[in-house]
Formats: sequence, structure tokens, C-alpha cells
Amino acid sequence: MKKKVVVLGSSGSIGKNTMRVLETLSDRFEVTGLAVKNSVELLAEQAVKFKCRNLVVADAAAQQQLESLLPEDFTCRCGVQALVDMVTQEDVDIVVCAIVGTGGLLPVLAALQANKRVALASKEVMVMAGDLVNAILSGGHGEIIPVDSEHSAIFQCLKGGSHPEVSKIILTASGGAFRDWSCEKMAAASWQDALAHPVWSMGSKVTIDSATLMNKALEIVEASRLFQVRNEQLEVVIHPQSLIHSMVEFSDGAIMAQLSQPDMRFAIQYAMTYPERCEGNLERLDWRKIGQLTFLPPDRKKYPSLDIAFAALAAGGTMPAVMNAANEVAVQAFCNEAITLPQIWRCVEQVMDKHNAVKLDSLETALAADREARIAAEEFIRQNKI
Ligand code: MG
Repeated sequence: MKKKVVVLGSSGSIGKNTMRVLETLSDRFEVTGLAVKNSVELLAEQAVKFKCRNLVVADAAAQQQLESLLPEDFTCRCGVQALVDMVTQEDVDIVVCAIVGTGGLLPVLAALQANKRVALASKEVMVMAGDLVNAILSGGHGEIIPVDSEHSAIFQCLKGGSHPEVSKIILTASGGAFRDWSCEKMAAASWQDALAHPVWSMGSKVTIDSATLMNKALEIVEASRLFQVRNEQLEVVIHPQSLIHSMVEFSDGAIMAQLSQPDMRFAIQYAMTYPERCEGNLERLDWRKIGQLTFLPPDRKKYPSLDIAFAALAAGGTMPAVMNAANEVAVQAFCNEAITLPQIWRCVEQVMDKHNAVKLDSLETALAADREARIAAEEFIRQNKI
């Protein structure tokens, strides 16, 4: 029996890689639902290619466009409720969530409540609502298998010992586009400069987050929520080659690391086939060509992101959601050339300073904090416009 897979965000960078994995493993998996925001042409192509008749887009205009591209036996719907209906269908086994930003939150919570496996690429879900996700996981049979490369690596390394034996989780970071730039040069950087990532080819939001290291800030919170370790057990190291995707140190001092080519399909494939591994068709690492692996401590003066993340973790509750929302607004403003790159950090810091964290006891609390942070970030941008 083939496993039935729904892919949310199939037109983005992770989504397209997921479709490539599904094509390779078509003897094991069947695509039963696809969703995108408004890339209707690509969605129509994917729907025909994978014979997937259950489709969701963001709004009625996109739905109409999609319907005009497909025969009548394809079901096209729009909106969040349609996403929730799609992921909770009884025969769905795996939901891949690769929606950029906060749009994945509701469908992921619904899928977990319906006891599905969620292959989670959208880090915002754990950052905004990690406590809620964990409450659902502990009360049911749903599961999250991380697709973020670092978290997939950690998930795999954790097989090396039990939870009490974990002493440290060490997230690796490529260092982003400005790794070798001075602070002065970085202050004048454009969004085009920020998009020149040295290793990974990804969507623009996450590439800019890599340049500011806010991606690592989000990943610190994501790791804290996924693996339920204490804040002081989380560490970041700059590893320019991006071949070690993260490491776990155990109580005896032994360190497990996971290595592969920097290709997201490794994490995607593992999240789908876990607990099995399957051969697939991904490129192997060639030791003769690696040369050396290097490591550097992150420069916390140059990149305030890590301090921001640990402050958000220390405050807890709604604070990580506020950090995430303020960053999203600030990145958009940077791309619109309304603020400079260092103002992304200032914006996040200022919005967090003004927020009083409260316990994350409901989805509404998380969404309210998100809304409040977006308004405060817009205000910061109005006041600090270049
Ligand atoms: Mg990552």
C-alpha cells in the first residue's frame, strides 16, 4: 500500500524538492493533495503530472484561474478551512508543510490533532506555537518529523542516546551572505547582496534570514520546542562548508554529527520514509573532494540574532511569536528598501522590548501576539524609514 501524501506549499523551494522526492519514490508514495498560495500554473502542472485531484489555493481569484487550467474532475478550493479539510482527510498519512511564514500554523495543528505525520519545514509553526504543538503531540498519536536540515540532522543524531543523555545540541550555520563582510559594509548591504547565499539555494525570505542569522535565531527556538532541551543546552557554530548539518553532544562527551550534500531532499526523504531509510537517488558525499571542515564561533556583536533568540526563549510564552512576526515585517521592509539591514535587528529588538510575554495557552493568544507585533514593527518602520 502506498502512503498518501499532502504537500502544502508545493510551489516553493522546499515544495519543489518534495515533488522531486515523491517522483523518485513513486512506488512508495502517492500525492493526494497539493496546496499553493497563488502559483496556479505550476500547481496545475503538478496536479496533472502526479494525478492529484485535490487542490487548494489562497483565494477565490486564484481558485478561478486554477479551475480554468484544469479539467472538471479536479477539485479546486481556497482558504484555510479547505487546507484543514485536506490534511485531516481520513486516508492521508503524511502532511508535508512547506508554507512560508505563518500560514502553516492552522493546518499543522489540525493534522496533528487528526494523528497524522507532519513533515515540517515551516519553522514558524514551532516558533509561534511550539507549546501548543507539544501539548497536542503528548495527548495523541500525531508526530512531527523535522525537515529543516539542522533539525533533521539533530533528529537523526538523537538516535545515538536517550533524552537524559543529551548534553548539548549544536546547530551549524553557514554564516550567510555576509560571513566575510565587515559591520560597516554590512550596514550598507542591499537585499540583492543578502540574496547571494554561499551554499544553499532557498526562497528569498529564508535567504535574507540566513544573511542576518535570524534564520538561526528561529532555528534555536524551533530546536528548543522540538527537542525539549534547556536553553543553555543549545549552541551555534559557524561551519562554512555546510556539510555537517548539526550535531548532538552526549553526557560522556561523544558527539554525533550528520553529514550529507547540502541538498534539502535528504531531510525531506528521511521525514517521509522514517523510521526506514531508502536508497533514493541523492548524490553521495565524496570524501576525496571535501578537503577540510572548518568551524568558527559566531560573532555575537556583528550578529545580534543569537542574543535575540535566547532573550525570546528566556521570556518564553508569546515572545518567540513576537520575534518571528517582527522579523517578517522587517525583512519585507528591507526588501522594499525602506530600512537598512541592521535595522532588521533593531526592529525585532524594539518590538520585543515593548511586548509583555504571556503564557501560550491557545492559538488565539499566539495569533494576537503575532498581530500586535506586526503593528509595532510597522510603526518602527514608519519612524525609521530611510
Ligand atoms: Mg535550516
